[in-house]
Amino acid sequence: MSGVEVASLRGGYGPVEVLRGLDLTVPSGEMAAVLGASGSGKTTLLRILAGFLRPMAGTVTFGDRLVAGAGSGFPHAFIPPEKRRIGIVPQEGALFPHLDVSANVGFGLPRGSARGQSAARVDEVLEMVSMSEYAHARPHELSGGQQQRVALARALAPRPEVVLLDEPFTALDASLRTRLRAEVRELLRALGTTAILVTHDQEEALSTADLVAVMRDGLVVQVGTPLEVYDEPVDLEVARFVGDAVEIPAVAHGDRASCALGTVSVRAGGDGPTEGAAVVILRPEQLLLSCPVNAATLPGSGVVRETSYHGHDSLLRVELADGTSIPVRVPGGTPPPRPGEAVVVSVTGEARVYPVAGEVYAQ
Ligand code: ADP
Repeated sequence: MSGVEVASLRGGYGPVEVLRGLDLTVPSGEMAAVLGASGSGKTTLLRILAGFLRPMAGTVTFGDRLVAGAGSGFPHAFIPPEKRRIGIVPQEGALFPHLDVSANVGFGLPRGSARGQSAARVDEVLEMVSMSEYAHARPHELSGGQQQRVALARALAPRPEVVLLDEPFTALDASLRTRLRAEVRELLRALGTTAILVTHDQEEALSTADLVAVMRDGLVVQVGTPLEVYDEPVDLEVARFVGDAVEIPAVAHGDRASCALGTVSVRAGGDGPTEGAAVVILRPEQLLLSCPVNAATLPGSGVVRETSYHGHDSLLRVELADGTSIPVRVPGGTPPPRPGEAVVVSVTGEARVYPVAGEVYAQ
């Protein structure tokens, strides 16, 4: 199987450059999630990987095959989509309505293959996605989740080296989405297929992929394991985008920072400062709430302003002594403190510390 290597990639539409020198390496057999806000250039990257759009500069390599290269210093190369050995799973099935499931899946197979061989391969991939019993159903007879299974089977039928998944779970309801993405992940892992999943959903990226590439303004700004990007965001924006972030103004000194939660242990995130005005970032699970009688006199004291109940937990908005308002989650099962109650918020583990947004620190 092939890994994917994207180097110094520039691309866009007419004079508009969307990708501005993007680099991304996905090792063979791994799944990378390309995670970015709307407009960050995810679809443009996917279109270049698929061969629907030619790059303005840079290279795309699958294994040892240069599939697209442009610009000075590179051999000019362009392998068309049908010769790239890729499978594409689009946002919503995009199945042919007049063809049954088998014919839709068989559509992905090369025209020249023998009829019997094609039929056997169709049966095999339908089995992989647990859709054998629907082989003769028409797309409109299937649920959204079943249509996505068929779309996956169609993408896998020609044994692609690289599978591109374009927000394939977005249209599904929450519980089906979680189940299907786990199944798809397992299947691709078992087949050893390199996969790139484009998504704007940070939870999907963190829970599904081996590697997360965070995109912003046409660049990959951080790539790492889900744990690395969640735990060590390179900058404040990545910290805010990947997971919930509790942001508190602080003054940093070395491995500590003073803020409305008292003195917290910190680790510099990215090029963060170790001295002076800064922002500390905590994840909600690092905050613990207690209600001692002398709450108001303790570090980290605050007052509950709002409470919303979510079953598994409650989300509180706590106003700290300096007026900073932060979200705190408390586990379900016990009644949460009520608005107006005095509480103490304490911190477990290390906070990350970053420059105040917009400020540039001397290196
Ligand atoms: P994402 O998938 O992350 O939402 P896109 O790659 O679709 O981002 O878009 C990135 C930028 O490119 C956006 O500013 C968008 O307006 C622009 N864009 C996308 N498609 C076209 C197009 N066909 N022509 C011109 N600009 C486009």
